[in-house]
Amino acid sequence: MNAQLINGKSISDSIREELRYEVELLRQKGVTPGLVVILVGEDPASQVYVRNKAKACEQLGYYSEVIKIPAETTQDELLRVIEQYNKQANIHGILVQLPLPKHIEEKAIIDAISVEKDVDGFHPVSVGNLMIGDDALLPCTPSGVIELLKRTGNHPSGKHAVVIGRSNIVGKPVSMLLLRENATVTICHSRTPNLPEMARQADILIVAVGVAKLVKKEWIKPGAVVIDVGMNRLPDGKLCGDVDYDDVLETAGWVTPVPGGVGPMTITMLMANTLKSARRFSQ
Ligand code: NAD
Repeated sequence: MNAQLINGKSISDSIREELRYEVELLRQKGVTPGLVVILVGEDPASQVYVRNKAKACEQLGYYSEVIKIPAETTQDELLRVIEQYNKQANIHGILVQLPLPKHIEEKAIIDAISVEKDVDGFHPVSVGNLMIGDDALLPCTPSGVIELLKRTGNHPSGKHAVVIGRSNIVGKPVSMLLLRENATVTICHSRTPNLPEMARQADILIVAVGVAKLVKKEWIKPGAVVIDVGMNRLPDGKLCGDVDYDDVLETAGWVTPVPGGVGPMTITMLMANTLKSARRFSQ
């Protein structure tokens, strides 16, 4: 076993410690960061995510509201709830937990969230700002990936980063962030031929696919940094990533475990975004 572990839990804890200090400074100016999380329906996984977000708010001393809305709510009713929070002064971040019930158009909901309060970073204006390099609230999982790289001394600048996956939530934004950090970026997806060969060219390999243990040691350039965004539930109920963790340990230089790698960073970056938004509103 050669690879060093990238411990997302401990990196996440130290970022939260930094946030706590900044929250205190803001509070001395009379501002408490406020986040509303809106959950439509009763999807069990979503309920867990929402609970964890509320818990993180509590730990950091944020003001938070969790709004639970029945699955049969209409799109117009949900839009009215968002409109109310767009106007509510003590709320700096609005997060609508995805996925939404099928009769509600996800895009209409994301578009309705005020860009200033778009702490998920999914609004088209936030996406555009990320693309052109303007100041933006950045999507949480991708910015968490960048923090993991920087805080383990694996700065992307000058490196070849290969991203597997091109979703709007992970693959595309993480590619843009890597480019912004001066990496040379290759984006691969389900139609990319010779995927193992492409992956083997990576100094930094980011995998966000959703296929358990897809990436094997033959895909890894010796010493590469491997960031596994995947979260897959195995038949025995255990969580596992898109990377065959035990297999790549021999070849990789650094690797994130699942759980305990990228996962803990996502909520922490949500907290960072809410603080950033609160700071902007207080100026
Ligand atoms: P998605 O389904 O929206 O996108 C998957 C991408 O992978 C697509 O672009 C597709 O082209 C590509 N793909 C699919 N099969 C492939 C294959 N065999 N070879 C190469 N590419 C392939 O998924 P997503 O929302 O980007 O999520 C990806 C994974 O990351 C999932 O396991 C998800 O649960 C996980 N995830 C984790 C976090 C976190 O906080 N840790 C956050 C978001 C997503």
